[in-house]
Amino acid sequence: MRKNRVLRAAFGLENAVVEGADFDELAGAVVVSVRPVARVRNRCGRCGRRSPRYDRGEGRRRWRALDLGATKVFVEADAPRVRCGVHGPTVAQVPWARHDAGHTRDFDDHAAWLAVHTSKSAVVELLRIAWRTVGAIVARVGADIEAAVDRLDGLRRIGIDEISYKRGYRYLTVVVDHDTGRLVWAAPGRDETTLHTFFDQLGPERAALITDVSADMADWIAKVVAARAPNAVRCADPFHVVSWAIKALDVERNRAWNQASGRRRIDTAARTQGKALGNARQIKRSRYALWKNPEDLTATQHHQLEWIAKTDPRLWRAYLLKEGLRYAVNFKGDEGKEALDRWLSWARRCRIPAFVELARKIVDHRAAIEAMMDSGLSNGLIESTNAKIRLLTRIAFGFHGPKPLIALIMLALGGHCPPLPGRKRPTD
Ligand SMILES: [Zn+2]
Repeated sequence: MRKNRVLRAAFGLENAVVEGADFDELAGAVVVSVRPVARVRNRCGRCGRRSPRYDRGEGRRRWRALDLGATKVFVEADAPRVRCGVHGPTVAQVPWARHDAGHTRDFDDHAAWLAVHTSKSAVVELLRIAWRTVGAIVARVGADIEAAVDRLDGLRRIGIDEISYKRGYRYLTVVVDHDTGRLVWAAPGRDETTLHTFFDQLGPERAALITDVSADMADWIAKVVAARAPNAVRCADPFHVVSWAIKALDVERNRAWNQASGRRRIDTAARTQGKALGNARQIKRSRYALWKNPEDLTATQHHQLEWIAKTDPRLWRAYLLKEGLRYAVNFKGDEGKEALDRWLSWARRCRIPAFVELARKIVDHRAAIEAMMDSGLSNGLIESTNAKIRLLTRIAFGFHGPKPLIALIMLALGGHCPPLPGRKRPTD
């Protein structure tokens, strides 16, 4: 009986009886034979209802469990089917694994924790499973959490954003809670239908309690928010307003590059073929310096900007306009509105078409930008969530479909990642 207790503790086999353990030479793995205790036997694998036995199913099955040292471990048991009143013939529930899973719960939770906290290659090599399998595991761990927590309760001030992935071919719509800093909702797509799904889940009563919605000024967001969150003030967020200025600056940078000498691929020598030279190369290399916030610049990037100031006054003016707008939109209240006025009169007279156009756009969205200055919602949350999601979409490359990607994002940023097996949550 003591052996039974040791094995149950080691492999997360609560509510199971250990019948024996052996080393399978062929599989090179320890195989622990078990059966569920009587109390949890004959329940539907989907809903847990106690149901009459249907047949033996496909006989004995194995579930991958956490390794014993460096040796793989499988839990082995019969997998009979029961006839559920709702789901028909279904493989019976087992206490050590999720329905339809090839891994134990502990293995799943361990893999999901690693996927959130370490690198892709670390997970794959440490656990000896395919990355796509990690995706399936993350999806089912995520589904368990979604079923157990209501993330949409108590929302007052939210941010809505769209994120592109698969090199801009696919989109996610995400919702963050400005008060907790957590991601609360994500779904594939970026259109009215997608956002309506969010408000369907929220329900009219909770939607009426929303006071502020920050978002990019996309029309589809504005329309749905106006229709579904009647009491909410819609405001811009500094991150998106600054990103408009960065786009305008890029137009100007392309103009500079097109006019620069040295951009033609005239040198046929293999070493320099296809590369920009001279001024064109300088402009190309300076793009990060132009995009970055000045306080984050490296010494080299400072030199690149100095070079632009000397050689291309117009591109330099465009850079200053971008920085000026970034400066203005980070002020709050009346101070911000005055700063915005000064910026607008500067931009209107700047004779750089992309920024004259940007000034018009700012005027069009003035009400939302002023609401942003009055609301005091911080830019940091949207910006950092946006950056983290972008990173996660690259990590999730190779997962099958958007579900595992969304599950990974929710695990990482939703505040409910399962702890490692055997560890309690910090709040417990
Ligand atoms: Zn059922």
